[in-house]
Amino acid sequence: SAGRVVVVGGGFGGAACARALKRAQANLQVILIEPSTVFTSCPFSNEVIAGLREIDVQQFGYDKVAAEGVTVISQAVTTIEPQLRSVVTADGVALPYDRLVLSPGIDFHFEALPGYDDATSEKMPHAWKAGAQTLLLRGQLEAMPDGGTVAIAIPANPSRCPPAPYERASLIAHYLKTTKPRSKVLILDAKDTFSQQRLFEKAWKELYGDMIERIALSQGGRVTSVDPATRTIVTEFGNYTPDVANVIPPQRAGRIAEVAGAADATGWCPIDPVTFESKLVPNIHVIGDACLGGGIPKSASAASAQGKACASAIVNLLAGRAPETPRLTGVCYNIVAPGYGFSLAGNYQPRGDIFAEVEGGATSPADAPRELRAREATEAERWFRAITADTFG
Ligand code: FAD
Repeated sequence: SAGRVVVVGGGFGGAACARALKRAQANLQVILIEPSTVFTSCPFSNEVIAGLREIDVQQFGYDKVAAEGVTVISQAVTTIEPQLRSVVTADGVALPYDRLVLSPGIDFHFEALPGYDDATSEKMPHAWKAGAQTLLLRGQLEAMPDGGTVAIAIPANPSRCPPAPYERASLIAHYLKTTKPRSKVLILDAKDTFSQQRLFEKAWKELYGDMIERIALSQGGRVTSVDPATRTIVTEFGNYTPDVANVIPPQRAGRIAEVAGAADATGWCPIDPVTFESKLVPNIHVIGDACLGGGIPKSASAASAQGKACASAIVNLLAGRAPETPRLTGVCYNIVAPGYGFSLAGNYQPRGDIFAEVEGGATSPADAPRELRAREATEAERWFRAITADTFG
């Protein structure tokens, strides 16, 4: 064979990378390791929370990836031995590699939010990894009486999908407006400004009046601790005890990246943006949310584009050829109500140790007729079908 590449994590980055590797070079041995047999997509999970969509349309298996010749192993990786160039799975099996790709997504930085841990997430769900958490938050919204308050605690950047908390606030407001109109959404934000802010705030005023209130960083909105026993959220300004507490904690690279020695003091993984190879551990490449991408937002479209570019770089490196400089495209849709969407598209290229945005990006106009918002909502659905088919078959 032309070599052996192990990919850890079968999400948007890892599955795209594994498929691209196999397609680029059929005699390459490609192994994808992912503990779950069903992947649940975060994109469009805010629609599930708001009752606009069921979770089964968010779920994808690995049959088609396997049918293309990728060896799919349903295990978690527990240990990585860079000197031996080997990964060990939870069942104790060691698998050697020539090149290793890590796409483990995020884990939560619990130390940065006293009171929050896995047990707390059962009471104050994050719903920042899709699946059981998504349904838990939805169930809490359904159980809440009219006139209640839903608080959404938003962390500082870098974090997974920076605009998604505001999309969530919008769609929860839509759910409340149509079922429990005396209720409120309270955003407690560790940021002053956010992605697509003008578009969101305009849509909120237009669609939801004063139903959504936001307390920004400089108004004391940063959450400093939580108490799950009383469902209390403590901020720099004061204490809140909402009826539903959606607490999105600060984040870092998926834990296995740290185990591999690929994460630095920031909690994320510095890379060479041309090859995605770790700056800290040779022969390990990090893609998706886990890497320090600089100007490229952490999104499924970025993870997928990085997965493909990384596959191309690895094929070239294994063949002794120079890798090509990647140009990545990412597009991010936000849905604020059924039939009301807007988008942000960007192009990114390596500059020094990170990705920088280059020309050719586009954002939806702040003032646009509703037909354009409706068309962008339809395009968002089309984007979802395309990226999930591209990733999982
Ligand atoms: P993931 O897709 O999370 O995949 C990581 C995988 O690694 C998981 O399947 C996990 O099980 C596996 N894994 C972890 N540790 C191990 C281990 N030790 N061994 C083996 N496997 C392991 N992005 C968009 O582009 N558009 C959107 O509209 C959008 N909406 C979003 C809405 C919400 C509410 C959220 C939370 C996110 C949204 N995103 C969106 C962001 C998107 O979900 C992520 O950026 C994307 O999933 C990142 O891909 P990834 O491969 O890095 O991680």
